[in-house]
Amino acid sequence: MATTTRNGPAGPPTGPLGLTDEAGELLGLAREFATKEIQPPAAEQEAAGVFPRATFAAMSRLGLLALPYPSEYGGGDQPYEVYLRVLEELAAARLTVGMGVSVHSLACHALARFGDTSQRAEWLPAMLEGELLGGYCLSEPTAGSDAASLRTRAVRDGDDWVITGTKAWITHGGIADFYTVLARTGEDGPKGITAFLVPGDAPGLTAAPPERKMGLSGSPTAQLHFDGVRIPDTRRIGELGRGLPIALAALDAGRLGIAACAVGLARAAWQEAAAFTARRRQFGRPIADFQGTKFLLAELATQIEAGRALCLAAARLSDAGAPFTAQAAMAKLFCTDAAMRVTVDAVQLMGGYGYSADYPAERYLREAKVLQIVEGTNQIQRLVIARELLKDAAG
Ligand SMILES: Cc1cc2nc3c(=O)[nH]c(=O)nc-3n(C[C@H](O)[C@H](O)[C@H](O)COP(=O)(O)OP(=O)(O)OC[C@H]3O[C@@H](n4cnc5c(N)ncnc54)[C@H](O)[C@@H]3O)c2cc1C
Repeated sequence: MATTTRNGPAGPPTGPLGLTDEAGELLGLAREFATKEIQPPAAEQEAAGVFPRATFAAMSRLGLLALPYPSEYGGGDQPYEVYLRVLEELAAARLTVGMGVSVHSLACHALARFGDTSQRAEWLPAMLEGELLGGYCLSEPTAGSDAASLRTRAVRDGDDWVITGTKAWITHGGIADFYTVLARTGEDGPKGITAFLVPGDAPGLTAAPPERKMGLSGSPTAQLHFDGVRIPDTRRIGELGRGLPIALAALDAGRLGIAACAVGLARAAWQEAAAFTARRRQFGRPIADFQGTKFLLAELATQIEAGRALCLAAARLSDAGAPFTAQAAMAKLFCTDAAMRVTVDAVQLMGGYGYSADYPAERYLREAKVLQIVEGTNQIQRLVIARELLKDAAG
């Protein structure tokens, strides 16, 4: 049975679609938490640039920060498909929260998937259920799309590594409790990079003031300076020189998180616009009565549904242990472009009211733009899709 919520008809049902009872309950819990706790202060906190740290602590206690990870380490043991549907709920209420959960999950990925047993046992439980917040440090001022050109260097000193350099655009930069950091330990290029897990309070690690952005103001994004940050070799994740494949594997999963957030944001914008068109009267009738309005709302809803389907299909591949790199890139590309289109058209459907900061539509539009940029721009997604498919085509 389809549930009707504040998010309207574009919101997915919690019951069918092959979800277990447990997953259905989880989705219901996430939706209730999002509606009652996340959404009400969103507009005010975004305007003031406030990050909802207490909300993240509460989500940690509810297990919402650990859903796709093994229960052995405090995770929720949920399929990726279920995790993405929860993310959609969180992002529909506030993108800062949905994306924050996605980035935290990205930051846990390297250790969970590539750490050895003792590393996982030592750090993963606190990262997953200890009310900690993670950050993921790949980008640098001169290494964005070309991540393999990164210059932050880690130099071996006895049993330690000493890290020096600058990371750029780090979500949760300066407030995270731990960072997954990619640093150069060897030759130039993709094979000279290694992954490390760095505590947020490591001596020598400082954050610049948060970037001033066009949206997502509640989510701090900052440069991080590593000035001789010393960490033991036990905090090296995976083999020396294997950091880039580790970083890219995390991004495959992370891109699906961004896609799910885009679906949530688009859904919130659609609902806002649809409700407005039902209320607003011109020429003696609700503007929703005009065929031009109806056709546009129908097209936008179709984009949202198609995006969700693509995203969840990629998640099912991941859950089945099948390769999903191309499908994750397709989902990221399609869903974030759809979110951009839906939010632009939502403002248009609301006329001058859509452009006013008294309604959330203009904020949704400003927030949508970043989703086309983070975790690989949509140009880079096209490169990934073509590379993967042509590899397959070549046999
Ligand atoms: C709010 C925010 C949060 C972020 N959070 C994080 C984070 O937590 N961790 C992290 O590591 N990074 C983070 N990033 C960085 C993000 O991943 C990068 O901004 C992104 O990868 C693009 O890099 P760049 O900004 O250096 O742009 P550039 O790589 O300089 O690209 C500029 C333009 O050139 C295009 N371009 C580049 N190369 C090609 C090509 N080969 N073919 C066609 N077009 C190309 C791009 O698509 C883009 O349009 C964040 C960014 C933002 C804005």
